[in-house]
Amino acid sequence: MKFSELTEYFEEMEATSSRLALIDILSELFIKTPEGEIDKIVYLIQGRLAPFFVPLEIGMAEKSVAKSIASAYQVSTEEVTGGFNKLGDMGLAAQQQAQKSKPKVESLTVDEVFIILEEIAKTSGEGTVEKRQNLLSNLLKRMDPLSAKHLVRIPLGNTRLGIGDPTVLDAMSLAKLGDKSKRKPLEEAYNRTSDMGLIAKTLWEKGLSGVEKLEVRVGSPIRSELCERLPSPDKIIEKMGEVDAQYKYDGFRVQIHKTQDEVRMFSRNLEEMTHMFPELSEATKKQIKAKSVILDSEALAYNPESDEFLPFQETTKRRRKHGIEEMAEKLPLKAFVFDILYLDGKSLINNPLRERMETLKRVLPEDDVLIRTKNQTIKDPKILATLLEDAISKGLEGLVVKKLESPYEAGARNFNWVKLKRHSAGELNDTLDCVILGYITGKGKRTAFGAGALLVGVYDKKSDEFVTVSKIGTGLTDEEWREIHKRADKISLDHKPARVNSNIVPSVWIKPEIVIEILADEITRSPVHTAGRTETGTGYALRFPRLVSFRGLDKKAEDATTVEELIEMYRQQGR
Ligand code: ATP
Repeated sequence: MKFSELTEYFEEMEATSSRLALIDILSELFIKTPEGEIDKIVYLIQGRLAPFFVPLEIGMAEKSVAKSIASAYQVSTEEVTGGFNKLGDMGLAAQQQAQKSKPKVESLTVDEVFIILEEIAKTSGEGTVEKRQNLLSNLLKRMDPLSAKHLVRIPLGNTRLGIGDPTVLDAMSLAKLGDKSKRKPLEEAYNRTSDMGLIAKTLWEKGLSGVEKLEVRVGSPIRSELCERLPSPDKIIEKMGEVDAQYKYDGFRVQIHKTQDEVRMFSRNLEEMTHMFPELSEATKKQIKAKSVILDSEALAYNPESDEFLPFQETTKRRRKHGIEEMAEKLPLKAFVFDILYLDGKSLINNPLRERMETLKRVLPEDDVLIRTKNQTIKDPKILATLLEDAISKGLEGLVVKKLESPYEAGARNFNWVKLKRHSAGELNDTLDCVILGYITGKGKRTAFGAGALLVGVYDKKSDEFVTVSKIGTGLTDEEWREIHKRADKISLDHKPARVNSNIVPSVWIKPEIVIEILADEITRSPVHTAGRTETGTGYALRFPRLVSFRGLDKKAEDATTVEELIEMYRQQGR
């Protein structure tokens, strides 16, 4: 396929504000895509050259990209930067220069462009910045203006397509299997392998049955199983029967992959974090004798002498790129291992938890840096209540309670795993993670920062859309507004993003990317908001929302609280 043809599709997708249209355009593109290029096109749609867990980044700074554009079209960098400042987007600035300079366009294929982008990403060592600039600039010289617009956004990590994984899966199903009904098996394979390009390539080459045979593999993160909520020990036993109750550690999730000579670790967001935790790699090599294994764990700073768990704010200091060795000395981590998903060449995810916990005992018989989670089989709610008290008194968040017979459902959030935290009656017992969708310009003091309220939403997993749940303004400090502006202004849009469903039109739309943690007094029914809206037009809203924190990069917009969770929290509140 020609790269210019691909960018015409990008152009169409960027302009649409309907998700259904997005699926249709994408599926039309997929129908035309040959076997040899489908994986590459899928990665490019995700704004990448490889799956998320492969740290192959094309990252270039704005200044560098501006220099490439300037050199390609023989203008000054100032002129390009001027265009960028005016148009607010480097893609448009490149397009503008290309239109003026009329380069000699060659007919490049997606493959050819992809190879050069890979070369840019793999460039390292001395003179990297210049080498990357040259490669990009030489490529721009051979392209039409529209291709240039979309090309330069790739190294900036700003493709603006706003396409979520479920939309890509819907479109694949529609293109290859006739309708959207096969999204589920495709999604399950994606949950096991986290590699959308692999799913596409396998579907194109071997059909659905090939995709269904894709197994868990060491080195590819498995999408994490997540927890539902229930309000009390009684409700838990009533709904789940006999359970395995485990401490809920408040650190960060680390999936540990070990082969004979290598250990790699992945975050909940599927990013590679091996280099961040050298002590956990060491410990895995020492403590785990098995040839190959995948473990699920929570890493946090813990003092075994005093039996103290350090607060999350401390642990999180370890998520950093520099001074790693020094921090590892100062604040060594332990990994509390709570599951085993793979052992010596075999996936264990379809085995019941009861068996996996037995296997884990064999594979990790003794605690050291890796520590097997404390767990207990319980069927009496009173004993569960006591264990919860015990966890709270140790400074832990609470418990995670799991169905003994359940398989490991990659990527699922259901009642196989339930979190139990302490709460007091009449209040919500948990915060929500909301996505910023826009801001509404205010009057008075706030106008200095250009915002009066934020429009925030939750994620509707079924329709792969973001739906509104609240406006939040009061209680944000000037500092917080500044932070929001710093992050939001780069991704503001002049039209509603395709995957946003809102009755309220804010002053400025913001691409759904920034996740904030919000505490509210109550969830109420609301005719205004679109979250969980029924036929009669009533949705759900937050009463007295306040900002608790900005979520880190660990939470993608699709990891925000879902509509199902919101409704469940509504049902449970005040019980
Ligand atoms: P939050 O960030 O508010 O905790 P979340 O959706 O990221 O929300 P929860 O659903 O509250 O996470 O809790 C699940 C998380 O708890 C897991 O992702 C994991 O990181 C952590 N965790 C700690 N201990 C356990 C355990 N024993 N079993 C499973 N997960 C655990």
